[in-house]
Amino acid sequence: MAPQSPSIQSFFQPAAPSKAAHEARPAAVQQPPEPGDGFTEAEKQVHRPSTIEKTWNPPQEYDDVDISDLIPGPGCRTFMGRIVNFFDQQTPSKRPRAAKGCVKMIIKDDTGALTIRLWYANPLPALRLGHLVTIWTSHISNSEHGTFTSSTAPLFTSIFPERDRGCHLMLHEASDDGNLCKAPLGYRPGRPLRDLITLKNFIDGGYDIVGSRILVAVKWIGGRKKVTNKKGLENDVVSVGVFDHTAEATFTLWGPTTVSVTAWKTSQTILLFTSPGWRIDRKAWISLNASTCVDVDPSIEDAEWLRGFAQRITRREHTNPEFPQDIFDFEAALMSPQRVLWTLGDLDEFARAAPGERFMGYLSAIIMELNIVKYERRNMLLCNECCGVPLFANLVSTKCKQCEKQVALRINPRLLGPLIDETGTTTGGKLIVSTRAWEQLLGRTTSELVATSTEELRTIEQRLLFLRVNLVFGWAAEEAEGNVGRLCIWEVHA
Ligand SMILES: [Zn+2]
Repeated sequence: MAPQSPSIQSFFQPAAPSKAAHEARPAAVQQPPEPGDGFTEAEKQVHRPSTIEKTWNPPQEYDDVDISDLIPGPGCRTFMGRIVNFFDQQTPSKRPRAAKGCVKMIIKDDTGALTIRLWYANPLPALRLGHLVTIWTSHISNSEHGTFTSSTAPLFTSIFPERDRGCHLMLHEASDDGNLCKAPLGYRPGRPLRDLITLKNFIDGGYDIVGSRILVAVKWIGGRKKVTNKKGLENDVVSVGVFDHTAEATFTLWGPTTVSVTAWKTSQTILLFTSPGWRIDRKAWISLNASTCVDVDPSIEDAEWLRGFAQRITRREHTNPEFPQDIFDFEAALMSPQRVLWTLGDLDEFARAAPGERFMGYLSAIIMELNIVKYERRNMLLCNECCGVPLFANLVSTKCKQCEKQVALRINPRLLGPLIDETGTTTGGKLIVSTRAWEQLLGRTTSELVATSTEELRTIEQRLLFLRVNLVFGWAAEEAEGNVGRLCIWEVHA
């Protein structure tokens, strides 16, 4: 196809034409949509090059300082911190040397926080909440009348690394070991964190307290959506489900901040909000406003505790928990001279008497119910979870609608109903059955199962119903206190 006549922009290409600049050029030539390369838009943004130099040599000496040591005035200073809030202000300008926009961000170390205006001419590398950065600057300012900065970060510095060689910003990726600048402001080891309240207290009116803080775990991560505002501008939005031991809320991220979620994991990532934006209707909604600070995975005891709590809850509520890999040594147990045949009654009694105990043995039980055809009809033969959201399909893998990754599915534990013996019964769908045991029971692999016709599945069901099977099982308590674990079936012999 013939290119159109050159536009004025084409005379002002950046010195080193980067891939980003190429992408930013107006789509003069209409091309058919390219097939996806398996990367999400967010992942591509993370690796998009910028014109801020990677290797920058300071032209003079810079004093290495903590943020709390900064005083307004001129002077070459450098400091590190993590991004705890940012938003992009585009400033359209036709002048080629002018900045195209400015990212206003708050960065904080263990001592204090500072507001930064980062001007840019070419697209910036993707920033994330929690990103570790080093700043070099020659001037620190005090905001007039506090209109520009927040009370948490009253001082500010304005930098334009692409035009001013006296200042620089470095984003740490590989050089971030995850330990620096992780303490929330005002934190003293061993003491409760100031102004920290539970999510329920926050929802019930604690949002009125100035500087109130909530500590939450990420429960699920929603898909990226495009929203068009009243001015016709498109903006990305991502919702993230968060919770603590008292309540749940939805955290909404807009625009460039949405890239942050690519580094987060459900039931693993902990967020500490200071002065979050909020809206409470039937549900609680949390967002970033100008003075909000978000510490990602702060290093405090409460975060450790909450992460443990979140993992216990999600493991218990997981649609299809994975067979525990390293807990049991079945090979040794099967070779052992003491192979114990248990009854379900003994098992129940023993597990309650010694909840922390871990043991293996044999069971002989009758299958009372099978739901293979039922779940095949519902397209739920296999299942798993991704981004905190259950996935079902009659397929060995499916794409997660949230993160767009391909997720391997395992056989739905609900295919197997209750088992009974002379002393007791199990709850249907609650067993954790190994892939090996499923193969032995169904006489086929997972991929063969999804290819089996409904008629044949019905035959399998009829053959297995009321069948007495011998099971090799393992038992381990899921939680420490009083909570009974789950029965893990390693092998099945008819
Ligand atoms: Zn996912």
